[in-house]
Amino acid sequence: MRFLNYKHSLTMDVMLQMAVRVSIVIIIVSALTYWHIYKTLVSSTIDGLEHYIHERGQRESAIFKLAESNHQIFRASFLAHWKQDAFYSDALFWQVFERRSDQTIHLQKKAYDGYFNRSGLLSKDVTAYIGANAPIENAAFRKKLLLAYTMVDHFGMAWTRQFANLYVSMPENVNIVYWPGVRWADNASSKLNVLSEEWVYITTIKNNPDRKSVWTGLYYDPTALEWMVSLETPVDITPGNTLNIGHDILLNALFDRVFNDHLSGTYNFIFRDDGRLIAHPGKIKDMQRTRGMLMLSRLKDPQLNHYFQTLQTAIQTKKKDFLIAEADNAFLAATKIEGPGWWFVTVYPQSLLSSPSLKAAKFILLMSVLALIIELIMLYVVMKKKVVEPLETFIDASSAIEAQRYDKITGNVLPLPDNLDNEIGKLAKLFKSMSNSLQQFRIDMQHLTHTLEDQVKVRTRELQRAKDKAEKEATIDSLTQIPNRHSFYNRAKALLQQADHAGATVCFLMLDIDLFKTINDSYGHPQGDKVLVACARTIEKTIRDKDLLGRLGGEEFAVVLPSTSLEEAQVIAERIRTRIAELSFNTAHHTQRFHATISIGISSSSDTIYAYELLYKHADQALYEAKQAGRNRVISYSGSLSPSQDEASSS
Ligand code: GH3
Ligand code: MG
Ligand code: MG
Repeated sequence: MRFLNYKHSLTMDVMLQMAVRVSIVIIIVSALTYWHIYKTLVSSTIDGLEHYIHERGQRESAIFKLAESNHQIFRASFLAHWKQDAFYSDALFWQVFERRSDQTIHLQKKAYDGYFNRSGLLSKDVTAYIGANAPIENAAFRKKLLLAYTMVDHFGMAWTRQFANLYVSMPENVNIVYWPGVRWADNASSKLNVLSEEWVYITTIKNNPDRKSVWTGLYYDPTALEWMVSLETPVDITPGNTLNIGHDILLNALFDRVFNDHLSGTYNFIFRDDGRLIAHPGKIKDMQRTRGMLMLSRLKDPQLNHYFQTLQTAIQTKKKDFLIAEADNAFLAATKIEGPGWWFVTVYPQSLLSSPSLKAAKFILLMSVLALIIELIMLYVVMKKKVVEPLETFIDASSAIEAQRYDKITGNVLPLPDNLDNEIGKLAKLFKSMSNSLQQFRIDMQHLTHTLEDQVKVRTRELQRAKDKAEKEATIDSLTQIPNRHSFYNRAKALLQQADHAGATVCFLMLDIDLFKTINDSYGHPQGDKVLVACARTIEKTIRDKDLLGRLGGEEFAVVLPSTSLEEAQVIAERIRTRIAELSFNTAHHTQRFHATISIGISSSSDTIYAYELLYKHADQALYEAKQAGRNRVISYSGSLSPSQDEASSS
C-alpha cells in the first residue's frame, strides 16, 4: 500500500474534507431535528394540555356545582313548605326539642333514634344547638326551627354521600346539623355563639348584601380532621327572618387528586384569585401551619410567585375559564374551579419536551456519526480502487515515459485502465496513444540518425578521397607521377637542411631534354608526352631511393642527391644521360623510330653551400653550358664558369 506512506495522500485529503463537511451537516441536521421535534412537541403538548385542563376543570368543579345545586333545591323546598302551616304544632315541637339545664335547646334523645322521622327512616345523624338566649317564645321562630330540622333530616342522608354534612344555621344562634358519625351539637359549649363563626357571619345581611351563595376560606376542621371549605346560602324567609344553608366540602379527596393524579413529570397546585395558596404538594406543612391561610406573597418562593404573576396576567388578558401560559421554564395550564373561585394549575416543565427532543437529536447525531464512519470507510475503499490505484499506474507510466521505456506502456507491462468508461479510462487511452506516438517517434529518430550517420560516413570518405586526390595533385605531377616543382622545392629544402646538419655533401642535378620542341613538332605532342614519361621513369630507376626527383616544368627535371660527392653525382648523371640516349621511341603510326637526348648540369654543396637557390642557379648555369656545348652531355658547375672552359663530352 504505497499511498499509505504519503503524508498527504489524496485519499486522506478527500476523507478529511468529507469528514469536516459532513460533520457540519450532521450538526445542523441534529440541531434542526431537535428544534423541529421540540416545536412539534410544544404544539401537540399545548393542544393536549388545553384538552386535559379543560376536562380537569370540569371534573374538579363538579362537587362545587353540586353543592350550589343542592342549596337551591333546599331553599326552594323550604320556602314552599313554609307557606303551609299544617305541619306545625307546639306539641310536635316539644316532642322534638327540649331545653337543657344550661338553658340551651337540643334535640330530644328520642329524635336521635329517628322516632319522629316521618318518612319512616331512622335518622340518628342530626344534632341541633339553639343558644340559651334564642327567642324560643316566638312561634315563627319555633316553626322555622322545626321545618329546618325536618328538612335537614330529609335531605341529609342523600347529600352526605358527597358532602361531609348538611346544616342550617340561623342568626338567632342556631345550628342544626346532619353529620353522620359526628354528634356536633352534643359537643358544643353552652356559651357557643355561632355568629362568631366564619360559616355564619359571611351570610349576614351586613356581610352578604347580595344574598348569594358564598364560600368560606379553606380551613382544617378539627372535628372531621379534614381540610374543608364551606358553601353558605342565605335564605330570606320574610324580611329580617333568615336562615342559612351550609355544606362542608371535604377536600382531602380533592387534594389527594391534586397531589397524586397528575400527568407524569408534572405537578398540580391550586390557588385563589386573591393569591391564597389552596393546595400545593410542596407546601403541605406551610398550609397546616397557617391553617389554610397561606398567601403566596408571604412564601419566599420566587418560582411559585413567578408562576402566579404569569397566570394572573394571562387570566386578565385572556378572560377565559381555562388557558395555557408560558412561564420561564414551564407551561402553566390553568382552569377555573367553579364555585370557590379557585384556579387549578398543572405545571408542565419544558424539560419534559426538550429531553425527548434532545434524545432524538442525540440519536440522529449518533446514527449520523456511525453513517459518517461507514461512509468514510466506503469512500476509502472506493477512492483506493477507483482513483488511487489507477493514479499509481499513471505515476508508474509517467516514470516509464520519463525513462523513455514506452514499450512498458504499449506492451502492457504496466497495464493502464483503458477499459474504464470514464475520465480515467480516457486518460489511460491518451497515455497509451501518446506512448505509441513517442515510441514511433523514437524509432523514426533512430532510423533518421542511422541514415544521417551513414550519409556522413560516405561524405567523409568522399571528402577524404577528394582531399587525398587534391593533395596528390598539388604535389605530384600528373603526367610523370613524380613530385612537381612546388613539392620538389619543399622536399629538397628539407633534404638540404638535413645534410647541412649532418655536414654531408649534397649534389643537385638539373636536366633538360634536348630539342624537345622539335620532337613535339616532328612526332606530335602525345609522343612528346611519352618521351617525358619515359625520361622520368629512366631517371627514377637510375637514382637511389634516398635521392629526390622532381619535374620543374616542361621538359625540365631536377634531382637532389644527398650524401653524394660531385664525382659520384657525375657518375649518376652520366648513367642517366646514357640510358636516355639509349631509349628508342615509335612514331605515332609506327612508321619509324626516333631517339631523345638530355643535357645535365651539376652543382655541389661541397663548398659548404647548402642554399637551394644557389645550388639551383649553379646547376642551371652548368646546364646552360651543356646546351651551349652541343647538348647530350653532363657539365658540373665549376665556380668560375665560362662557356669555353667546360669541356663537352659526347657519346
Ligand atoms: P634546347 O635543346 O635548347 O632545350 O631546345 P628545346 O626545343 O628543347 O627548348 P625549348 O624551350 O625551346 O622548347 C621546349 C618545348 O617543350 C616547348 C614546348 O612546346 C615543349 N613542351 C613543354 N611541356 C611539354 C609537355 O608537357 N609535353 C609536350 N609534348 N611538350 C612540351
Ligand atoms: Mg628547356
Ligand atoms: Mg630542351
